[in-house]
Amino acid sequence: MSSVSSPVSFSQLAPEYIRAISPYVPGKPISELAREMGLNEADILKLASNENPLGMSPKAQSAVTAAVAELARYPDGNGFALKQALSRRLGVGQESFVLGNGSNDVLELIARAFLTPGKSGVYSQYAFAVYPLAIQSIGARCIEVPARNFGHDLAAMADAVGADTRVVFLANPNNPTGTFHSGEAIESFLKLVPQDVIVVLDEAYNEYMSPEQRYDAVPWLQRYPNLVLSRTFSKIYGLAGLRIGYAAAHPDIADMMNRVRAPFNANSLALVAAEAALDDEEFLQRSYETNRAGMAQIIKGLDALGLQHIPSAGNFIAFKVGDGAGVNVRLLKQGVIVRPIAGYGMPEWLRVTISTEAENARFLDALAAALKA
Ligand SMILES: *Cc1c(COP(=O)(O)O)cnc(C)c1O
Repeated sequence: MSSVSSPVSFSQLAPEYIRAISPYVPGKPISELAREMGLNEADILKLASNENPLGMSPKAQSAVTAAVAELARYPDGNGFALKQALSRRLGVGQESFVLGNGSNDVLELIARAFLTPGKSGVYSQYAFAVYPLAIQSIGARCIEVPARNFGHDLAAMADAVGADTRVVFLANPNNPTGTFHSGEAIESFLKLVPQDVIVVLDEAYNEYMSPEQRYDAVPWLQRYPNLVLSRTFSKIYGLAGLRIGYAAAHPDIADMMNRVRAPFNANSLALVAAEAALDDEEFLQRSYETNRAGMAQIIKGLDALGLQHIPSAGNFIAFKVGDGAGVNVRLLKQGVIVRPIAGYGMPEWLRVTISTEAENARFLDALAAALKA
């Protein structure tokens, strides 16, 4: 569509801090690549957004199908049933939960409730791109702390907290690097941060941690009332398209977040699907095992190609190819979508989502061909 000429420069009407935002670049959708390359959608392999290769939990699918009949109704704006299920599972009171349109929504609610221009938010270099977006959209100041070995430098992050800092964002494991800190390291960090600074521990990939890595942050909510846990149904639960995530926090923090929340931010289908997925142990276990086997397969393949990679605790891995943009284009031509991470300041790297054995093998073949070209 050609744009209508206007005597007003609308971008000039927006505050400078909004104009300064660089838009989030999502993984390329299958339909878009199919159009661009003249390929069949069915032949395209998308490994760009850390989605579950097994699809969604069958229990969640049944719940969604049953709930379709009621779509003329507004959702339960308080998400009572899902909060009750979360409360039972986590052993935390329902008043501690905030539901989000994806956990992305939750991250923005924290920024909106606790940041203003003149305040600052802290996060690490190479951390999830939504943190600076959430901070900047409020007009607050971003404090990006240089990473260490691609991971969070927790001591430096604690040092970076200033008098005007209200929020610290921390992803464990982190995306796009997959880097991980032990439970002890995270708890030591919590001890270093002043009580009046909110620490958001983003656990989007929590369920993919190995038994040796596994720690439980939920009891910390008692010891560190400034802690906010953020979790999602988009990754291992396989519900990315429905958009549902949640925060668990001190009830007063949850209260402030709920005040700035859109009244029906979590939709009816998402609510019932999440509730069903939460208890689908069989699907979760199968997803975990698929990722574990797939990770080993991909690492072996990357090693065989002589490519450097960053040890990952998630369902994806970042690897170094040199010319990230060039290799990406040659993968796209073969119908394989991975994630370039130049936007994160890693132009020599690509990130791939771990998938099933057959899809991993196809990716590795395509990568070998893309490196030769
Ligand atoms: C994918 C991801 C999220 C959340 O995504 P939603 O779909 O909005 O729930 C949050 N944090 C990190 C680090 C992620 O990678």
